[in-house]
Amino acid sequence: MSKRIVIAGGGAAGIAAAIYASSKNIETILIESDGFVGGELCTGMPILGTYSAFGKQCVGGVLDEIIQICQENKQQYIGPVCDWRTLYGLCLNPEVLRLAINTLLIKYKTKVLVNARVMEAASQAGRLQSVTVLSKNGTKQKVDCDFLIDATGSGLIAQMCGAKVFSGDEHNVFQPISLIFRMAGVNFEEALRFIRDNPEEALLAENPILGTSQAKAAIALYNKGLPYYALASSGSLLGNAIESKEMFPCTAVFITPTSINNKEVCLNSTRIAGINCLDETQVANSLTELYEQVGKTERFLQNHVPGFENACLSAIASRIGIRETSRIAGEYTLTQSDVVDAVKHKDAVARGCHHVDIHGAGVEQVRIPVKGDGVYDIPIGSLIPKGIKNVLVAGRCLSSDRGANGSARVMGTCIDMGQAASKIILAAISQNLSDTRDVNMEKVNRDCE
Ligand SMILES: Cc1cc2nc3c(=O)[nH]c(=O)nc-3n(C[C@H](O)[C@H](O)[C@H](O)COP(=O)(O)OP(=O)(O)OC[C@H]3O[C@@H](n4cnc5c(N)ncnc54)[C@H](O)[C@@H]3O)c2cc1C
Repeated sequence: MSKRIVIAGGGAAGIAAAIYASSKNIETILIESDGFVGGELCTGMPILGTYSAFGKQCVGGVLDEIIQICQENKQQYIGPVCDWRTLYGLCLNPEVLRLAINTLLIKYKTKVLVNARVMEAASQAGRLQSVTVLSKNGTKQKVDCDFLIDATGSGLIAQMCGAKVFSGDEHNVFQPISLIFRMAGVNFEEALRFIRDNPEEALLAENPILGTSQAKAAIALYNKGLPYYALASSGSLLGNAIESKEMFPCTAVFITPTSINNKEVCLNSTRIAGINCLDETQVANSLTELYEQVGKTERFLQNHVPGFENACLSAIASRIGIRETSRIAGEYTLTQSDVVDAVKHKDAVARGCHHVDIHGAGVEQVRIPVKGDGVYDIPIGSLIPKGIKNVLVAGRCLSSDRGANGSARVMGTCIDMGQAASKIILAAISQNLSDTRDVNMEKVNRDCE
């Protein structure tokens, strides 16, 4: 009998889950409450968690397919670049990435419902039967599910089925929200020369694995020719601007190249702390202040930062970026020490390599690198909500403590979890199982190779 996989949420994890499942000819429905899929993935930020600090690729599969299509657009593909701070990021033109994702959704005939929010779930004794989806025009439809992947970022569907969650620091403190934007017309050479000659202005050589000094890291960055660096609040340029209130307090202005043709970079600087990220209205009401911060950053860069004199705003993300909401309580909870000690698990389904990365208020940010080979495993139990049979979670709502979540939340790792969730379900189907907790992990691992 044919089975159906429903995927709730079309961010990094949901897209990967949907592309993987539909590429295996299984009926797949991707349901996204926004009017488009991709979310943060298509804003121009580097896809982190894809390459370790040693430059070893940790995520393949669907990501490889996406990269291959992006590479065909030769002028716009950038690829993995070391930030000489902590590790490599996969730098891409987000519009090319958007089209590549679309190409794969069409190729594999994935059914995609946008402007469609999963509102309710019908479940009994730990088994989900169906979800109710509300369209923007007010119509409701019931969608039956054999299996569901909850890629909502917050484990919303797992919660509807009775799963427990942990939120933020568990005292209503969440990482700040931000609005990502891009600027074109940047003089890459000048921007990099400034950092080469003033390495203390950037965050560099933080990760001992890189085995280098700030000065050497700045030269390596300059030699690569791509402006992938973070202008630090501890430096005089940004530091003075924050002190004079020309800029708002932020850890750094994180700069990522997105297009060599357009001399374009993505900028991650804006931030508002103290928001309850579970409250959609509070988040939405922050948009005006975030827009103001975009304008302030643009002017600060144009007026003070070499290479940006003639640069101008080219895009603003279509939604507010939320770093942290809820994580489910799963069969296994990934811990900060699993991450930092690069722990390997026999029942691993995905891998991560990003440092523990928790943004705080103002200039605060915790950054703890992964030791050893720089890569840790995510076991199957981190994707299984405790006591639930046919719902898996994927993405930043995985079962993890706050520290581990600060690492596994990045997009490369979310992509890997998304495809892993589909692999687990496909293994369950092929092993004739209706409970993902009974899946034979060795077979999943073999499928994963
Ligand atoms: C400002 C900021 C900067 C970041 N910087 C980086 C970076 O540089 N590199 C990096 O790799 N990562 C970065 N991250 C982290 C990363 O972007 C996210 O953690 C990651 O994209 C999460 O992916 P996800 O698929 O788990 O969740 P999301 O991308 O949040 O996707 C969840 C999707 O589910 C949808 N949804 C929610 N509820 C429902 C429902 N009821 N029904 C249907 N759909 C629903 C949402 O609309 C959304 O599209 C950053 C995050 C932020 C916010």
